[in-house]
Amino acid sequence: RRPRLVVVGGGVGGATAARYAAIWGRGALDVILIEPSESYATCFFSNLYLGGLRSFDSLVHEYDALARRPGLELVRRFAQKIDRERRQVELVDGTELAYDRLVLSPGIELDYGSVPGYSQAAAEIMPHAWKAGPQTKLLKAKLDAVPDGGLVVMIAPPNPYRCPPGPYERVSMMAHALRAAGKAKARIIVLDPKDKFSKMALFQEGWDRRYPGVVEWQDPTIHGGIKGVDAVAMTVATDFEQRRADLVNVIPAQRAGRIAQDSGLTDATGYCPIDPSSMRSTVDPSVFVIGDACIGGDMPKSGFAANSQAKVAALAVLTDLAGAAALPAHYESTCWSLITPTDCVKVDGLYGVRDGRIKELAGFVSDTGEPDALRRRNVAEAEAWYDAMIADVFG
Ligand code: FAD
Repeated sequence: RRPRLVVVGGGVGGATAARYAAIWGRGALDVILIEPSESYATCFFSNLYLGGLRSFDSLVHEYDALARRPGLELVRRFAQKIDRERRQVELVDGTELAYDRLVLSPGIELDYGSVPGYSQAAAEIMPHAWKAGPQTKLLKAKLDAVPDGGLVVMIAPPNPYRCPPGPYERVSMMAHALRAAGKAKARIIVLDPKDKFSKMALFQEGWDRRYPGVVEWQDPTIHGGIKGVDAVAMTVATDFEQRRADLVNVIPAQRAGRIAQDSGLTDATGYCPIDPSSMRSTVDPSVFVIGDACIGGDMPKSGFAANSQAKVAALAVLTDLAGAAALPAHYESTCWSLITPTDCVKVDGLYGVRDGRIKELAGFVSDTGEPDALRRRNVAEAEAWYDAMIADVFG
């Protein structure tokens, strides 16, 4: 039979890897993509939905085009187990699928226990919205219900986590939504276990300039640690105080998706070590791990990065199966963040392999004090990127 590539997870990384392996493979291999969800809701631009700039439906994408692609079979099941000895994936219904090579892109698992008092049940009251879907809608409904003069508290996650600038773009979009609703006296406090964060100077300048007096970011070295939350009392406790809030957005610590951990592909960091020139697991040469679940060196855990890593992995699988020489790996990621509907900042990196890891070779970050027209152009760039990315991932 033809060699078979099985891809687990039809998010940004997995769908891209499956699609490109089928295109570049030109019938030389069979590709099976395993994803239980009917459709995929993007985390990227979900902050714009919170800000009232996009509908939820505009974030949702179907698998129809991928399912129709020659050489690619979509299996709508949850992968329960990977038997690496026998090179088989066991699905939730007991079906076993043999593979020659496996690409894993299961995304993240949330570590609810990293914030004392938080749990999956508490997330129904204090949403995380760090996986797009019902949680995103819940956060938006709760934001819309915050009264004027009300308090929003965000607990930001520790490193490393999905989308480094994501929490701070979210704060900006929540501030925008509150102001657009005429709630001039509502406030947002960010409790952060980190003492610095992605695009920090840009966000802080943006909050001071665009939402003066609305956003307060609390440096843990000054304000003490986060002690815990109580979802019934709607309180958040730090070393110094206990606050009652109208909305609490808890973004807990993260690690690689469950199946990567259960398959013994993670290390002590909770993520999967990979060979930076191919995305091949350092634990198992038949497995490649991409996206948020891998240890991507200097690359952020972003959709752009997952898409870029997926192409390297797809090519590595094809050259590997053909016994051909490997090609040098290059990666790219740009993350745009909206501060207001017309003010967008960005961070960009080009990456290659140096000293046994994925290293940034060139990069760009927006400057503070940039002209409004430039920031407005970044908004258009971000919108064009979203459409191009969706087309590249889902076909
Ligand atoms: P995912 O996209 O999460 O896909 C994982 C898939 O695997 C899911 O569909 C899941 O159903 C499936 N799966 C998991 N386990 C199994 C299993 N056992 N069997 C079968 N299927 C399984 N990135 C950007 O580039 N730009 C942005 O502007 C941006 N903004 C963001 C804003 C927010 C608020 C957030 C939270 C994230 C943002 N990101 C952004 C990050 C981006 O969403 C992630 O980095 C990206 O989704 C990672 O892709 P992935 O394939 O690793 O995981």
